[in-house]
Amino acid sequence: MKKLAILGSTGNVGTQVLDVIDMYPDKFQIIALSGNGNIKLLKKQIEKYKPLYVGVTDEKKARELKKEITIPIFSGNEALIKISDLPEFDTLINSVVGLAGIETTLRAIENKKDVALANKETLVSAGEIVMQKAKEYGVKIMPIDSEHSALFQCLNGEDIKAVHQLVITCSGGALRDKTKEEIENASVEDALGHKTWSMGQKITIDSATLMNKGFEVIEAMWLYSMPIEKIKVVVHPESIIHSMVKYSDASIIAQMSDPDMRLPIQYALSYPERWNAPIKHFDFSKNLTFKEPDLERFPCLDLAFWAAKELGTLPAVMNAANDFMVQKFLNRECRFMDIYTTIKNVMKKHENIKHPTLTDIQHSISWATEEAKKTLGEKFAVNKLKL
Ligand code: MG
Repeated sequence: MKKLAILGSTGNVGTQVLDVIDMYPDKFQIIALSGNGNIKLLKKQIEKYKPLYVGVTDEKKARELKKEITIPIFSGNEALIKISDLPEFDTLINSVVGLAGIETTLRAIENKKDVALANKETLVSAGEIVMQKAKEYGVKIMPIDSEHSALFQCLNGEDIKAVHQLVITCSGGALRDKTKEEIENASVEDALGHKTWSMGQKITIDSATLMNKGFEVIEAMWLYSMPIEKIKVVVHPESIIHSMVKYSDASIIAQMSDPDMRLPIQYALSYPERWNAPIKHFDFSKNLTFKEPDLERFPCLDLAFWAAKELGTLPAVMNAANDFMVQKFLNRECRFMDIYTTIKNVMKKHENIKHPTLTDIQHSISWATEEAKKTLGEKFAVNKLKL
């Protein structure tokens, strides 16, 4: 029986993790759950899964919950770290959104817990430190993302030296077939109108800009120790092939299924076993198509390749500026293309620190957020933009 701590259990990935667990209740015990905003749902989950501990980062909401339940609640900024320190679980499922996920992953590694990773910030911003630590402590990091799960499966049992290229597929996002002008004027609704995957709002905007794909490129570099020159992105609108590996003999191994996050989640938990499908089997009723990503319409992907080449603190800066800008866009406080131009300007100004410490990364993140705020503020002052 696997003993799990699930961080971010009320989020989009977290709830799908629990769907998988519902299919195999005798294989798992839930030691801890953590949530932030949605206390109602968290309370329902506590009643159903009976964890030994609960984490709520929001202090006020934690106090609310304390009135209703008797099990120990960790609250505030330390809540996630305290859960990572619990001796009772063996696998941490990190589906926290945002930067809090980095420290939590590091702490779980130091405690020799396996990590099933859905938090993007961990590897994008601190990939070098995290992978070094995982090696040092002999900890397994299993990706929950469909693309990295696909790559993991295509690389399984193969000689890494025979890899010619990792090919990461991409649905193209909600604005895939729009013109440059339409993209410039895209509304929040346009950008959220994602077709093939059901995801949270932040990641759906990141899919529309292709920044999410850029993050996945950087994550793949760290997970599979691959230089950026050996990673390619291909637009595949049907989202049936989740990624592929080209080998030196020109063979391509691909992993395919209907698009559903519950499959990569289940595989991260079942590996090296394969359990019965949590989703329906693909029936070959769709034609599969591929095309090159258009960097002129989706320049955020180019920024990610730039960050991937430079590494150091630049990916963390890109990520933090993107975080800030996507929130602004969702609040209707900037235009769609401002996301790209602001991130680019912030990255240009950044003095990159190679082989950074965690403190360097944290400083760069605060700097980038401030700089994005300033850059966007100046633009609005000059153009008197009204949205
Ligand atoms: Mg993905």
